[in-house]
Amino acid sequence: MTSTPVDAPRLFPDRLVVAVDGTSGSGKSSTCRGVATRLGLRYLDTGAMFRAMTWWMLQHGVDVHDPAAVAARCAEPAIASGTDPSAPTITVDGTDVAVAIRSDEVTAAVSPVSTVPEVRARLLALQRAIIGAEVEPTGIVVEGRDIGSVVVPDAPVKLFLTADAAARASRRAAESGATDVAATEQSLRSRDAIDSGRATAPLLLADGAVQVDTTGYTLEEVVELVVAMVDRVRS
Ligand code: C5P
Repeated sequence: MTSTPVDAPRLFPDRLVVAVDGTSGSGKSSTCRGVATRLGLRYLDTGAMFRAMTWWMLQHGVDVHDPAAVAARCAEPAIASGTDPSAPTITVDGTDVAVAIRSDEVTAAVSPVSTVPEVRARLLALQRAIIGAEVEPTGIVVEGRDIGSVVVPDAPVKLFLTADAAARASRRAAESGATDVAATEQSLRSRDAIDSGRATAPLLLADGAVQVDTTGYTLEEVVELVVAMVDRVRS
């Protein structure tokens, strides 16, 4: 994992970055979109970028369990993310993949692809370019697994969202229409294990991040809590 020395210049000194990490199905996406909409900020779903990379590998017949094969091709796809929280978009080589990247096939392959350091380096550069882009609004809510630890370690607001596995599985099954909640829970746990155990940029509680267990809270309550945190930093 890369680390930023304490006295290093801020990566994005002129802008508000809200870094939100956490386990799969902890409510990150809904929370981040809600917070960005409430506060008039942009929104970046970095998980969608890893999914887009994975979709491209599957489309091109790359063995997603062969890190060298994935590394050799990962500079090829042109991945573009739209950051309007009311209508986020994701395209690969100009094709809209918003629906395709949520397939079971991509979901099963995304964590192995995300362990590959070359994939992470490529997407890190893309993510920082989007965060630092000269556009209005400049402020942005960024969700993922390594935002507060690697992508923007000096973000003024850092959160780590969790929820118990059964709650995460039933939320995710309700969203996707899946009927086998036990299988959904198993899939979430398996992704969390790979995401937390990888050598490069693992999922962890970043220095200075506030951990929030969303199990007993509604989406509105979590959004309210995060908005209050951001307001404190802004005032
Ligand atoms: O957020 P989502 O569940 O869509 O992310 C899909 C996968 O992408 C994660 O399970 C993880 O393997 C990977 N990911 C990552 N780093 C991020 C965001 C997502 O490794 N910053």
